[in-house]
Amino acid sequence: MLRTRNLSFTLLLSLFAACSSPSEAPTDPQRPNVVLIFADDLGYGDLSCYGHPTIQTPRLDRLASEGIKLTSFYTAAAVCTPSRAGLLTGRYPLRVGLPGNLGPDSEGGLNQEERTLAEGLRGNGYRTAAFGKWHLGAVPGYLPTDRGFDEYFGILYSNDMMPPWVNTQRPLHLYRNDQPTAEQPVEQATLTQRYTDEAIRFLSADSDKPFFLYLPYAMPHLPLNASAAFRGQSAGGLYGDVIEEIDANVGRLLDALESAGLADNTLVVFTSDNGPWRNLPDRMINSEPVEAWHGGSTGPLSGAKATSMEGGARVPALIRWPGKIPAGRLSAELATTLDLHATILDQTATSPPAKPLDGQSLWPLLTGTGPSPVEYYYYFTGRRLDGVRDTNWKLRIAPPADDWSSPEHMTGKEPVQLTLYNLKNDPFEQFDLATEFPDKVARLRGVMEQMAASTGANLAVLPKNIVAN
Ligand code: MG
Repeated sequence: MLRTRNLSFTLLLSLFAACSSPSEAPTDPQRPNVVLIFADDLGYGDLSCYGHPTIQTPRLDRLASEGIKLTSFYTAAAVCTPSRAGLLTGRYPLRVGLPGNLGPDSEGGLNQEERTLAEGLRGNGYRTAAFGKWHLGAVPGYLPTDRGFDEYFGILYSNDMMPPWVNTQRPLHLYRNDQPTAEQPVEQATLTQRYTDEAIRFLSADSDKPFFLYLPYAMPHLPLNASAAFRGQSAGGLYGDVIEEIDANVGRLLDALESAGLADNTLVVFTSDNGPWRNLPDRMINSEPVEAWHGGSTGPLSGAKATSMEGGARVPALIRWPGKIPAGRLSAELATTLDLHATILDQTATSPPAKPLDGQSLWPLLTGTGPSPVEYYYYFTGRRLDGVRDTNWKLRIAPPADDWSSPEHMTGKEPVQLTLYNLKNDPFEQFDLATEFPDKVARLRGVMEQMAASTGANLAVLPKNIVAN
């Protein structure tokens, strides 16, 4: 562990050195373009390269084989808004004031004191664009074009945030930059295709500048919708149609990069904001056409979206940069979207923000030149810190959470469980080893207390019959 800490410190020093060096100035022609594809509620088990038995994703499988596939990759939170806040600031969402989801009528958004990835890259000479779901503020001052993106096309929050699923008077709008378009209601069936069309137009523009393209697809968040060309075509039901449409459109995008001669100098990332929404509240189940059994897979992992079990925030992650990241790599080492943020700053020679990042550059892990620098991942549920994992061990002190119990049904008075899992050989969270390893429980509980003190998070109160140290 000491070796890892020293390495992390060394990497941090070299990152700061690289960022402050005049030789790494923004005019460096080798700065890569960045394509960051962020699906919504796509689960760990939803791609064929992660083992789905009926859904086929040949283009994403090929992307995996051309770069690195990560199997212990986490988002900053297990629901949409805080996950996006973590990705785009590089800091845990509670630190940036967004521990929970924003609704259609929410005031404010992502703290304006925070620097977004787009603001950092634009300040470093990048063209920037976002096409898809934003969910970091739907009022002036908090829109994508207010937060570092030159252009935007998409919906400002989740595609279910309209009647009959959510009680609001505000129609779900499709925005072009900072203005709603006339399209009403939004034609959700073609969103994946239209977002991709925008992305291809953007990357094909005649410009000497490198670009940052953020593509947060609205699907497969419920209500599901696929275009006519994909509906009924997969062996995985409507959910499979939706995933296969995303796969085909990622393929179109990769083909466009290739045709434009940009593939070799573009870092491409595909991941998801959180696990699948299997644990539906009544407001979704009682409304057509949503069905509780729609699909959405965590593969062998426990839990689902909005839980601090592994299926909540552990998601697929594929990263490709030809000639830089060796093809065919596979890693189970710990990595997060917070580290992805730091990696993009690192590889684009973009200076870090004024506020300290929670992540570190994953470059040694991605290239196979060293271990992951990540020491801990913290499982937040809103303002509550539920758990922590290190290289192998996960301590969780929280109410029970399973695949089917909706967090919206919880009262806050559920009994607290303390569990310790060895994620190296039990990523399924089947065997609680807390009794056998009280020293590990005490150590990780101490790590949780430090993080809670640092972020202002709440910790669940242990039942009297459980002793943590
Ligand atoms: Mg989501």
